[in-house]
Amino acid sequence: MSTSNNVRQRTTKSTEKEDFVKITNEGEKRDKELDKHDTYEFGGPWGVLAIMTGFPVLMYYLWACLWFYDGRLVYPHSLAEAKPLLLEIWGHVKTDASSNWYAWKVYTGFMIHQLFLAHIMPWGYQQEGLPVPSLGYKTLMYNCNALVCVYTTLVTAAGLHYFDIFRLTSIIDNFGHLMTVAMFWGWFVSFFMYFATVIAGEPMRMSGNFIYDLFMGACLNPRIGNVDLKMWAEVRIPWHIVFFLSVSGCLKQYETYGYVTPNMAFMTLATWLYLNACCKGEECIPQTWDIYHEKWGFLVIFWNFAGVPFSYVYSVVYMASHDPSKYQFSTSTYVIMFTTLLTAYYVWDTSMSQKSRFKMQTQGVFNYRKTFPQLPWGVIKNPTFVQTAHGNRLLTCGWWKYSRKPNYVADWTMSFLWGAIVGTATPIPYFYSVFFITVLIHRCGRDFERCSKKYGKDWDEYCSIVKYKFIPGIY
Ligand code: NDP
Repeated sequence: MSTSNNVRQRTTKSTEKEDFVKITNEGEKRDKELDKHDTYEFGGPWGVLAIMTGFPVLMYYLWACLWFYDGRLVYPHSLAEAKPLLLEIWGHVKTDASSNWYAWKVYTGFMIHQLFLAHIMPWGYQQEGLPVPSLGYKTLMYNCNALVCVYTTLVTAAGLHYFDIFRLTSIIDNFGHLMTVAMFWGWFVSFFMYFATVIAGEPMRMSGNFIYDLFMGACLNPRIGNVDLKMWAEVRIPWHIVFFLSVSGCLKQYETYGYVTPNMAFMTLATWLYLNACCKGEECIPQTWDIYHEKWGFLVIFWNFAGVPFSYVYSVVYMASHDPSKYQFSTSTYVIMFTTLLTAYYVWDTSMSQKSRFKMQTQGVFNYRKTFPQLPWGVIKNPTFVQTAHGNRLLTCGWWKYSRKPNYVADWTMSFLWGAIVGTATPIPYFYSVFFITVLIHRCGRDFERCSKKYGKDWDEYCSIVKYKFIPGIY
């Protein structure tokens, strides 16, 4: 296929069958190669071992700094101080982050409740996923009922709190205990899924190194009945917990001071926007690479079960236990913060929507889902794209004409605001944005390498049209 006339303006309607994407023989060959393990990522077995052990330790350290040292990053000033400090932190972990009965009940109960709702709740929007190369290009159906489940969860939580059966303020009080149980589940599910997949004889893209394969995962599309576990865990666990931690923080402030600070309200709005986006646009998630390419291993599982919920909203934890005078802004600063949040959210929501819905359109499985809010410019009419020899198409309009990762820029901006909402009171809430930029740059590198293998010269052509990776004119 010549690349010179590959950029096309789509003028046909999505129902015109002849214009749908068709994977070519060349595309099938490349997909087969991409479904084999060839290189180690994340520094190979030693690198992933360091991540698997280092992250839980880092999470405990940051939690201890926030909880017991007034949000300061504590460290020994001499070798002699190292041991006592370590023992002191270990003492805090043993007592205030023990896996007590309360945390087992709450975290495990929440997980089971979410799984149960996902399984039984009606009004699921049926979305056909992308053709899966390892299944002979079969598509899987996704039962997208997160929206009805999240509202059911909200009503249930409000009822439990109102009738004093389960006080929502206790979530933040038990942050350390819940974090430990979450980590346990992250580890347990990773091991369980690895062995279950190997025993069932269905592992894919395996390296043969146990540690590495445990980290990257063995299975691609784990399911229990109609519940896609990978998508379920991505939506129903982390973003629910960060939102409920924020609600818990609000209630705690209200009980302590008699009012809720604009900063805490900001975090509640920010976490709700994220959670709601995942639920009201759930049908767009099967089109993301976490679902159609990344396997379900420690990398994704641990992060969904423990990493995201217990390291992204340190600002809430800080604000819930510190005097509001420590993080008070001027009215104009609040206006800037809220406006930036809403703008970044708009770009993130619509850029993700444009790409996912473009994929649905070109696959011939797009129906406009009316959930709230459907923002203007979420769907592009007559999009331009690069037609690849593989068969797939690469969008070159909407937000996607400005950079190859507009969604990452917007998502990162939100992560920065989640920390900046405490100003300079403590550096710990900035962990999310520092960590996230590292993840996004690394993820972008992995993704571009994969796309380059998948699309060859067409990828180069796409990069020559959409020149910038993140911010137009800068990088
Ligand atoms: P990505 O941008 O990572 O998706 C990349 C894939 O999309 C590519 O592999 C390619 O796949 C396809 N693609 C790339 N460019 C185009 C284009 N121009 N036109 C058509 N297809 C294209 O993001 P996802 O879609 O996976 O979305 C992930 C979202 O989740 C992001 O917003 C990210 O910020 C967020 N995220 C959040 C995390 C958190 O902890 N908060 C962690 C990780 C992600 P192919 O061509 O094979 O279809």
